[in-house]
Amino acid sequence: MIEGGGLSRVLRALHAAGALTRSDLGSLTGLNRSTVATIVNELVAAGVVEEGAGASGGVGRPSLVVRAVPDSVAVIGWDIRADSSTAVVEGIGGQILHRWSKAHRRGSTDPYEVAARVVAGSSQIAEELPDHVLWVGVGCALPGIIDPGGDPPRSTIHRAPTLGWVDTPFGVILSEAMSEQFGSQVPVVLGNDANLGAMAEWTRGAGKRSRVMVFVSGDVGIGGGVIVDGEPLTGASGFAGEIGHIRFDPNGAPCRCGSRGCWETVIGLTTIVSAAGLDPLKAGIDDVLSAAQAGDATCQSALAAAARAVGQGLAPVVNMVNPDTIVLAGHLEVLLEHYRHTIIEELRFTLSRESTDIRVVGPALGSDSIVVGAAELAFERALDRPQRWLTAPESLRSE
Ligand SMILES: [Zn+2]
Repeated sequence: MIEGGGLSRVLRALHAAGALTRSDLGSLTGLNRSTVATIVNELVAAGVVEEGAGASGGVGRPSLVVRAVPDSVAVIGWDIRADSSTAVVEGIGGQILHRWSKAHRRGSTDPYEVAARVVAGSSQIAEELPDHVLWVGVGCALPGIIDPGGDPPRSTIHRAPTLGWVDTPFGVILSEAMSEQFGSQVPVVLGNDANLGAMAEWTRGAGKRSRVMVFVSGDVGIGGGVIVDGEPLTGASGFAGEIGHIRFDPNGAPCRCGSRGCWETVIGLTTIVSAAGLDPLKAGIDDVLSAAQAGDATCQSALAAAARAVGQGLAPVVNMVNPDTIVLAGHLEVLLEHYRHTIIEELRFTLSRESTDIRVVGPALGSDSIVVGAAELAFERALDRPQRWLTAPESLRSE
């Protein structure tokens, strides 16, 4: 008889690593050899993992390796934005099996419409994948402050300025719409987009092996997430890491959050493009960059000023949480690539020495950080109670 906790630990370890030897599984999970063997054998019987030869270490026979079977168990991760929806299908072990993306008109953010879009996209995705894939969850990243409200399906979006939502019970709306389409067996979980991006970069990207990581993602808004020893810093009521709304200039422009002079109003994409003399509805960071490279002085100074403000805003965050890694995503990555020196210059006003203490890098997952984070959140939930979905022999299902 296997207790559910052991099963969960083995699946988590395999999901994180993709493939492990039985002895590595034992040391990572703290389970003894015979328990690992029983669990692995039953997971092989259930088709969730397979065992085969690993890479040879040189001398002697290659050791047996346990691998997650990517298309046996999968989740869908969604990244919901004001003007687009992106989804990935992630298989157990972390492989991306499928991608889906759709742009839509800005302003069509009625929560029921958004839920219908997620449901329609999810069923299209499910149709495009083989029948044997077992769906164990849907994770949804949203640009807002999320109050989990106890059980995740009841999550409420406390505030999402870019979607225009205030206290919107999107967890219930989406769960009900999904159950109508798929039956009640697909659990839905919601998370803040930047926190999920941060988590994905920590587990599968640029933050691997870091202890304290700050993730800042730039788009129209500026999102932030902080991971400490593998745990997201959420704060007492869920808005820790909202770096974009730290007051940068008390006399600055009004912010969508109701305050004034937030960091977002200074380094947000719209501000930079406008300061460069271009139309933010038509131009993006690449347009500003190519004009600057062609010698346009207004564009050059807009980018330099933004880069300086990025460094100035990061400095107090560095002193506050003492990160070893800072990941700058979205248009902030472009600024880092071309104005690295300006950004780093400003970090000299902190207690750390950038060259030795902090890595400032772009996201290793590229533009996928957030959507992969949403998928990881769904897996996190599914691997917590694998007995709920695992079609395995009865012995595996006991609690
Ligand atoms: Zn603000």
